[in-house]
Amino acid sequence: MKVKQSKINELLSESGCEHNQKKQGEKKNKSCTQQAQPGAAQGGCAFDGAMIALVPITDAAHLVHGPIACAGNSWGSRGSLSSGPMLYKTGFTTDVGENDVIFGGEKKLYKAILEVNQNYNPAAIFVYATCVTALIGDDIDAVCKVAAQKIGTPVIPVIAPGFIGSKNLGNRFGGEALLEYVVGTAEPEYTTPYDINLIGEYNIAGEMWGVLPLFEKLGIRVLSKITGDARYQEVRYAHRAKLNVMICSRALLNMARKMEERYGIPYIEESFYGINDINRCLRTVAAKLGDADLQERTEKLIVEETAALDIALAPYREKLKGKRIVLYTGGVKSWSIISAAKDLGIEVVATSTRKSTEEDKAKIKNLLGNDGIMLEKGNASELLKLIAETNADMLIAGGRNQYTALKARIPFLDINQERHHPYAGYVGMVEMARELTEALYSPVWEQIRKPAPWE
Ligand code: SF4
Repeated sequence: MKVKQSKINELLSESGCEHNQKKQGEKKNKSCTQQAQPGAAQGGCAFDGAMIALVPITDAAHLVHGPIACAGNSWGSRGSLSSGPMLYKTGFTTDVGENDVIFGGEKKLYKAILEVNQNYNPAAIFVYATCVTALIGDDIDAVCKVAAQKIGTPVIPVIAPGFIGSKNLGNRFGGEALLEYVVGTAEPEYTTPYDINLIGEYNIAGEMWGVLPLFEKLGIRVLSKITGDARYQEVRYAHRAKLNVMICSRALLNMARKMEERYGIPYIEESFYGINDINRCLRTVAAKLGDADLQERTEKLIVEETAALDIALAPYREKLKGKRIVLYTGGVKSWSIISAAKDLGIEVVATSTRKSTEEDKAKIKNLLGNDGIMLEKGNASELLKLIAETNADMLIAGGRNQYTALKARIPFLDINQERHHPYAGYVGMVEMARELTEALYSPVWEQIRKPAPWE
């Protein structure tokens, strides 16, 4: 897959993405179609985004063709878990140096592919372009093709060098690589009318394992997980599913939309966070699969699960009731976590609306009520001001904001991709309640809020 300006433009203005299309309901959202400026890749480049989308395929080798820092900087920072193969955790890189920049890195890449194949016997090898190898003009597609013929193992080029844009754009390029080289290349042993794919769920901290048993109980088969805890083979036959369920992520929207065009698979967008959302997800999946009996079983399961959850959450609800939190995250999570917090009796006093669509913002407004503050942009000092103004008890945000919370001497909960605890599904609600309670009631807060002995 060559990286062409037309492909970048197409993915930057993904027609299925409401965020791209409307700003205040009128024009295109300029920020979506703008390419990254030099030095603006902070928070992840396109290469990083492509890796995020594909590395959770656990039995494949992920080989980075570039200087060692590209692989090194992002290696091991994502919490996607595997129930089996661990090959995806091994960092492979061609470690391109000065000589390769001058003479070209194709031979080195070819040798690396053969070596990885011989020593690790992967189900497939994903080869990632980076800024340097794209700029020196290495023909990665051609090398992958020749190497695949030689070794008899699929070798997939992922051409999303960092300079083409943001992490989100890279996610989409990862999806394009799957569409071009993987999906539709094998057939499942059998199909059922209840086969679905999960798209954009990366099994962070093992979250998917809290949800899969629910589908299993209902007799719904998750045919392909794209890509959390996935095996290469299952992604190959994703085209046979009856429904694509996109989870809390617009990152792979291009994939869902194109699978609808190519294979006639409809898609829905759902969230696994919070009681209402998980209930709605199960109901919508059952309704879309169009089976009255399944819908009846779903209602029964929801009644059972929510009753058990009420009992499990009771001690936590007592402690969390009335606590005030500031939420600083992005996209769909901005509202789905508010909904989960409300289920626990927590009041969300402010939330960010970064990367949220107009639809997301409408939901946030509805959930927050008139007094809630919606923060379009923010930095550490603005967050500190907001925490003081709203008299918040806690900050829920991504890992990089934990020091902001510590400066404000309030507890902090990590909600982004580096988190270590699964918050999805009914079991995730209990985990979230436990984590919130432990953080809020830790004795350390009393200690550090006391004046220092020398004051
Ligand atoms: S691909 Fe480019 S922007 Fe991304 S880490 Fe490597 S050099 Fe940096």
